[in-house]
Amino acid sequence: MTERFTGSFTQQEPLPQEAIDAAMSVLGHGRLHRYNLTKDEVGETALLEQEFARMTGARYCVAVASGGYALSTALRAVGVQIGDPVLCNAFTLAPVPGAITSVGAHPVYVDVTEDLRIDLDDLAAKSGAAKVLMLSHMRGHIADMDRLKQICDDAGITVIEDCAHTMGADWRGTPSGRHGLVAAYSCQTYKHVNSGEGGLLITDDADVAAKATLLSGSYMLYGRNGASPAPEVFEKHKYLTPNISGRMDNLRAAILRPQLANLSAQIARWNERYRRVEAGLGNTPGLTLIERPEAEGFVGSSFQMLLLDWSDQKIEGVLAACAKRGVELKWFGVPEPVAFTSRYDSWRYSAHESLPKSDRILRAIVDMRLPLTFSLEDCDLIARIIRDEVSKAYQAP
Ligand SMILES: *Cc1c(COP(=O)(O)O)cnc(C)c1O
Repeated sequence: MTERFTGSFTQQEPLPQEAIDAAMSVLGHGRLHRYNLTKDEVGETALLEQEFARMTGARYCVAVASGGYALSTALRAVGVQIGDPVLCNAFTLAPVPGAITSVGAHPVYVDVTEDLRIDLDDLAAKSGAAKVLMLSHMRGHIADMDRLKQICDDAGITVIEDCAHTMGADWRGTPSGRHGLVAAYSCQTYKHVNSGEGGLLITDDADVAAKATLLSGSYMLYGRNGASPAPEVFEKHKYLTPNISGRMDNLRAAILRPQLANLSAQIARWNERYRRVEAGLGNTPGLTLIERPEAEGFVGSSFQMLLLDWSDQKIEGVLAACAKRGVELKWFGVPEPVAFTSRYDSWRYSAHESLPKSDRILRAIVDMRLPLTFSLEDCDLIARIIRDEVSKAYQAP
């Protein structure tokens, strides 16, 4: 009998009851705007900022409308100007080159390695080309942050971390997002906490925090933010920083707070699922798995594998055969971009040099979501189906 999987790769868990209750309470009082507070009320958004700052160990936090908004705000707050080059990963998602382009700057892509991390040799070689690196921990794969920091410190490069896939992850015990000057997180439905849309920005730098708050649209009410610098710092920037509205609201903050409190339990569940898929796929002929370094505390919310040097036709065959059996895989390397596929050469609004080393790897990346609605047995079944179809295709002439 041919086994089939019948679950959905895009079905999230329902929100926890506490989040639903908190949302009802906000809906009941009607003060959804973050600055609409009663006397002495702190507000859900400010509380979220305090809690996320505490969780990451950052001095300051600003809650905003999306992860992509947090990225563009970070670029503005560190002073990126029109025409500036900004280094970023060749393997990333469209909001990263999008954020860079939105401030009039242009991306300079750095190669990806076979283990899906930024190529540190290529970064070192290009370190003279820009003053800012927007580092994507794409699909949760964290580069050797000790070496990366050394390269960037030596070259005077400011690092902005894109932690859309590493909320709750760490490198040698330091939370992801605490190695650079600023970090941006996404609270979008497919990330680690779910408010539909939403973003968080953290930093220890008071000037960056004040500018990010003013940029986010604080209407000079920044005294009501939850984890922000002293009023004197705002005095320096308040006449010089435009208001580019992109605030978070109290409804989203209310549903995020209970999810943040429960994040480590969710991470354990994701990683259990990840390890089951990984174990089921070990030693499949033709399939390359991604090794996870010891120093990396990752969140296995998605799974990547490589069909290195396979023909397009054969990769398409595997995906179609898996899809027929209910296993929805995404080929990041598909020549024509669809949905969330990620190839730098499809972002044609800015010039790029060709990266043959990355092209070979990007072509090979197959990606799968691991929603927490999957049971461990689901993960075993999914792995058996992929293993079966990859082996068959590999052995075929
Ligand atoms: C989702 C994502 C973002 C941006 O998040 P949004 O909240 O959708 O704007 C940025 N970078 C990566 C790698 C992402 O996957």
